[in-house]
Amino acid sequence: MEGVEERSVVSEKKGRFKRICVFCGSRAGNKPSFRDTALELGKHMVEKKINLIFGGGGLGLMGLLSQSVFNGGCHVLGVIPAALMTDEISGKPAGEVQIVADMHERKSMMAKFADAFIALPGGFGTMEEMLEMITWSQLGIHEKPVGLLNVDGYYNSLLALFDKGVEEGFIKDSERHIVVSAETAEELIRKMEEYSPLHDTVALKQSWLESVKSGHAPKC
Ligand code: AMP
Repeated sequence: MEGVEERSVVSEKKGRFKRICVFCGSRAGNKPSFRDTALELGKHMVEKKINLIFGGGGLGLMGLLSQSVFNGGCHVLGVIPAALMTDEISGKPAGEVQIVADMHERKSMMAKFADAFIALPGGFGTMEEMLEMITWSQLGIHEKPVGLLNVDGYYNSLLALFDKGVEEGFIKDSERHIVVSAETAEELIRKMEEYSPLHDTVALKQSWLESVKSGHAPKC
């Protein structure tokens, strides 16, 4: 009987995410491993039938990942502010595109429609988006897993800074637990499937994300 229960838990966990929001560089970075991992993440999402929501650009790691998920037959939704919606700035996006007014609306929409967040290597844009989702989890705006795909140790210094935040009394141990990290896409998604929040939330749980006014739900 124990075995039966175990199996049903595993299969439930397999289907935990219908749509993941991925933040990643609008550039591809210098190491081939960054590109390889973006493609590996796309492939793994397709294997698990996970749809993608992302920043809507066709350049850099964003372009590689979105094309790979799109080619694999999963739904891709790019959420892009009108001001960035030119091929020169953002490249040609794959999949469905939702144009929004600004960066704030973009993030709210991503947060509302995704079941989890992943950050691949990237620059300020990626770091800012990922940190905001960590903060929103800390505040109790959402309880969705946030995963850092630490390719070739790219995020080692940032993870060390988070640990320093705990050591110096700015971040609680239970809040540090919000950040899930792994070196491969497969391991990261597995850890995120197992994630449950340990921290107390600062604000009362309320439907902050329900206040997103524009933007229709993705088609699947
Ligand atoms: P960065 O890591 O600085 O390249 O920024 C990438 C993140 O910021 C993405 O997840 C996007 O949401 C956003 N972003 C930055 N630059 C662009 C761009 N040219 N086109 C679309 N989104 C962008």
